[in-house]
Amino acid sequence: MIKKCDHPGCTKAGTCRAPKSRDLREYWWFCREHAAEYNKNWNYYAGMTPEEVEEDWERQTFGAPLRDKNQVESDQRDYIKFLNDFISGRDTFDKAPPRPRASSRVTTALAVFGLPITASWREISAKYRALAKRHHPDTTTGDKDAAAKQFTKITDAYNVLKKHFGKK
Ligand SMILES: [Zn+2]
Repeated sequence: MIKKCDHPGCTKAGTCRAPKSRDLREYWWFCREHAAEYNKNWNYYAGMTPEEVEEDWERQTFGAPLRDKNQVESDQRDYIKFLNDFISGRDTFDKAPPRPRASSRVTTALAVFGLPITASWREISAKYRALAKRHHPDTTTGDKDAAAKQFTKITDAYNVLKKHFGKK
């Protein structure tokens, strides 16, 4: 069933659709002639502020108002900067000279003290003082010969580490 033209008094068939409002949800149905007249007078942007008109135009042109678009681009720039910093930071890290490898003499010396390869000079000297006190032939309560042997071992290890750490 064909509706009649919505133009008051017109009896022609309303075959042309014309939007009632900007949301384009409701339509008039006009005959070709009245549709053309209506379209000519219809202002899509009527009732909008200039800002709204601009924003609508941007949304239709770019898919989003420009200020959102700028925000999106700014976020993307920040993210790219973060990635670049991360990558160049990692690059610096990768290029950092490797921790000097301890010689087997040093690792053996550390083993005498029961310390890990990462031990600091402070830890080493503290450990040395404790062990030297315990194994000193003059202060030991046990076998003096065994203590003397152990004391020499500790002192040798200490001297190796002293050299390794550049201490005098
Ligand atoms: Zn008509």
